[in-house]
Amino acid sequence: MNFYVTILGSGAALPTKNRMPSAQYINCNNRHFLIDCAEGAQLQLRKYKINFQKISHIFISHLHGDHYFGLVGLLSSMNLLGREKELTIYGPKELEGLIRPMLEFGGARLGFNVGFVELKMDTNAIIYEDDIVEVHSFPLVHKIPTCGFLIKEKPKPLKINPKKIKEYDLKIEHFKALQSAQDIVLESGEKCKYQELTLPAQEALSYAYCSDTKKSLTISKHVTGATVLYHEATFLIKDQKRANATAHSSTKDAADIAIAAKVKKLVVGHISSRYKTNEGHLNELKELFLNSDVTEDGMCIDLTKV
Ligand SMILES: [Zn+2]
Repeated sequence: MNFYVTILGSGAALPTKNRMPSAQYINCNNRHFLIDCAEGAQLQLRKYKINFQKISHIFISHLHGDHYFGLVGLLSSMNLLGREKELTIYGPKELEGLIRPMLEFGGARLGFNVGFVELKMDTNAIIYEDDIVEVHSFPLVHKIPTCGFLIKEKPKPLKINPKKIKEYDLKIEHFKALQSAQDIVLESGEKCKYQELTLPAQEALSYAYCSDTKKSLTISKHVTGATVLYHEATFLIKDQKRANATAHSSTKDAADIAIAAKVKKLVVGHISSRYKTNEGHLNELKELFLNSDVTEDGMCIDLTKV
């Protein structure tokens, strides 16, 4: 099973030579998601060799341009390349009214269906679910309504203990029952407790995305125990006043959420173009949260190795 994130844009609103604005590709057990879709996202997808036709769901956190100005271009390219597969886009309710007229102007028609799903901006909600993955949206605290997202694997089946099962003649239905923590009855009538024949399940992994937001400890409740927390840290601590004034976060704000939520790893992004290198953020982070990093365009975060 795989679960990794490719950072397509690690910068704040102003694109620079080194940092494009927000967009991230997530492959979670071969579900292909895009979170935010800033200007240039389609070029970044190409640059990092990601087949964007595989993307089935796009999650847009809020309607500041540096989080969705790339949508029309990406959808247009998907169409030019012959896409037929449906695409579902989740975002604030105004998103469809902004995007659809541009796509359909002049009688143009896409060769594939685009479904828009309105996010509830003020509460935690499950917005996507299948047999092994679920996606939650939850409120952030920004200048306009903004959602974070949590992509999490559902609890995994228990592992069969290969040494123990040698002693029994088990059928397929027995394996299924054991893996879902049910005791079994053998043909002989003998009862077996699932604990005797199984080993603990693999840990279910989760990725939390928080951009853009000012610090709010309420957020930590929505991302508690995440394997990796991506939290914006647009500013350094020395620019905390600017962070507060613009409803953004500093490295300290991001680390405070990571500590409160007891996440395994913190990565920060949405880095202001005023900082020419990562150094300031890295120096601050190492004092604040040990297992942490600053995102860069093209960075791949493999959750199975955290
Ligand atoms: Zn914003």
